[in-house]
Amino acid sequence: MRSVQEARDLILSHFTRLPAETVPLDDAYGRTLAGDLVSHEAVPPFANSSMDGYAVRVADVPAVPHRLPVSGDIPAGTAPGPLRPGTAMRIMTGAPIPTGADAVVPVEQTDDQRDSGHGQPPPPMIELRVQPRHGDNVRGAGQDVAVGDTVLPAGTWLGPAALGVLGALGAGQVEVTRRPRVALLSTGDELVTVSEQPGPGQIRDINSITLTATLREAGAEVLALGIARDVRSQVEDRLAQARALAADLVLTSAGVSVGTYDVVKAAVEAHGELGFWKVNMRPGKPLAFGRVHGIPFFGLPGNPVSALVSLEVFVKPVLARLLGRPWAPRIVRARLAEPFTSDGRETYLRVRIVEGPDGASAQLTGAQTSNLITSMVRADALLVVPAGAGHLPAGTVLPAWRLQAA
Ligand code: AMP
Ligand code: MG
Repeated sequence: MRSVQEARDLILSHFTRLPAETVPLDDAYGRTLAGDLVSHEAVPPFANSSMDGYAVRVADVPAVPHRLPVSGDIPAGTAPGPLRPGTAMRIMTGAPIPTGADAVVPVEQTDDQRDSGHGQPPPPMIELRVQPRHGDNVRGAGQDVAVGDTVLPAGTWLGPAALGVLGALGAGQVEVTRRPRVALLSTGDELVTVSEQPGPGQIRDINSITLTATLREAGAEVLALGIARDVRSQVEDRLAQARALAADLVLTSAGVSVGTYDVVKAAVEAHGELGFWKVNMRPGKPLAFGRVHGIPFFGLPGNPVSALVSLEVFVKPVLARLLGRPWAPRIVRARLAEPFTSDGRETYLRVRIVEGPDGASAQLTGAQTSNLITSMVRADALLVVPAGAGHLPAGTVLPAWRLQAA
């Protein structure tokens, strides 16, 4: 029997990062940066004021209150000339600090009590009421990003803030890792698509929906192979399609539990190899991992919850590896709200995390059998009970993996 970690490490050894492609910045949300972003520019590009106020030379203000003539006005978006010695210049937030100035005195610390700016010329003289110190209210050039900084390392997930950095540096195009192409096939004689009316004994194919959504959320492109009957030739046909579509990864669901696995097993083994590993985990049937037409292959369990948990535990790390992104489940530590007795396997419990006065508690979302998709909807995390745990009293603190997007 393998531990979950051993199984995952062995699987990951089959994968390396996919090649890069270039996309417009506008389309880069949710993608993964392919190479280190080294800045060729400073952000901000010039020293500027963090306040509306008066730019001064500290040496010109020996004591306060002190009056200086106002020699100019610097709205944002303008390029001022130098500050004449012994004078002040009115300056707006974000406007460039004039050469010679080394501090900004906020308007609130002067006798300029008018609603500053907006068309009004500056007063001829200004009284400064607080002693400025060198650098006050000056945002230096390169304060955020200096030239030569590695601002974003390769593997960064491009969320709103990372896109903002790229935008600040004028990157109209971004080199990102190509999306993993994941072929997805549901198998089972009982399945119909969600838009069909199930006949007697039939059910709708949920796994195509849940797995597609999870895969997309994790940055993959899904190649939908639909449903195959439990007939070897049908499964083989779909696997051939996965090859024709240049899939990077093939996932099937169902048909790998004891007694029924022959179809998927036979179809995969006709064009590759498939291992059925005993993994010390719950939920989790034997984990089916191999290769078909040279493409890495997972045979996921049929039960919708088991399929989703397998995706979290084994497939998402693979996607991260393909994307060149560090794989790290978002972990919170939470107390068990009720006692739990484990059978000794590493167990993934569907829980809702509830914040209370003494920290987070993990409440089971109901029966933990692996066919109940609604229990997964109510869950916002998977609580991980370590292998060999036995009886755990209420209050035991355990790690929980957050299930929400990215
Ligand atoms: P199997 O692995 O084929 O024994 O399937 C295990 C259970 O999962 C059975 O109850 C199947 O009906 C169910 N199942 C398999 N595939 C799906 C699917 N795509 N959507 C919903 N339930 C499924
Ligand atoms: Mg089946």
